[in-house]
Amino acid sequence: MCLDVDDTLVDYSTSSRAALASMVGSDDTFPLWQRITDDHCARMLTGEFEYSTMRNIRTRAFFAALGEELDEHEATRRELGRQEALAGSWRLYPDVVPCLDWLRAAGLPLAAVSNASGRHQRDKIATLGLAQYFDTVLIAGEVGAAKPDRVIFDTACAGLNTALADTVHVGDRLYADAIGARDAGMRGVWLDRNGQGDGSLPHGVSAIHTLAELPELLVCELAGTRV
Ligand SMILES: [Mg+2]
Repeated sequence: MCLDVDDTLVDYSTSSRAALASMVGSDDTFPLWQRITDDHCARMLTGEFEYSTMRNIRTRAFFAALGEELDEHEATRRELGRQEALAGSWRLYPDVVPCLDWLRAAGLPLAAVSNASGRHQRDKIATLGLAQYFDTVLIAGEVGAAKPDRVIFDTACAGLNTALADTVHVGDRLYADAIGARDAGMRGVWLDRNGQGDGSLPHGVSAIHTLAELPELLVCELAGTRV
């Protein structure tokens, strides 16, 4: 059983939006911020730059997209302020611990599979008390591949010692998580917390709206499949 971390277990968007608002004045530009962050994380995985420099380059690119050119010093100042606002602001969704307790009680080996890029992700997982639940933790920046690349799903299943076809992955991104897992040969489950779906789902993908629905899905719909 594999689980995404940000916006699946950790309410990443609320914290990240608040931190962005502390830097820019509002969170209206969060979708732009997220797109630019995803793009720079992907470029970091190709080796174009290190994590420590990626954040400043990303922040300069973000302000440039808003029409403001920053020198390195100013970009560093603003980025450090954003990180300060972010620090200690992480919270779990209320459905997370009951779900993880159920999965552990069911005896399922668990992997956290995150597209985050740096050491902070392991610190976040530890700080929030999540580390005890997971047999293995996969961070894209450490693996050198990000979802939907099947390499990270293969690595997770190898760590769990489970076959891809017998393993379920749950995450909040339809393409990167659910469809990526399906294409890797796993069972993909889309955690649609905000009700974005229109009722139609790609073949081989299931959807739930909260993690409270996961045990029933596993028991009823996936009966006969080891997870
Ligand atoms: Mg996520």
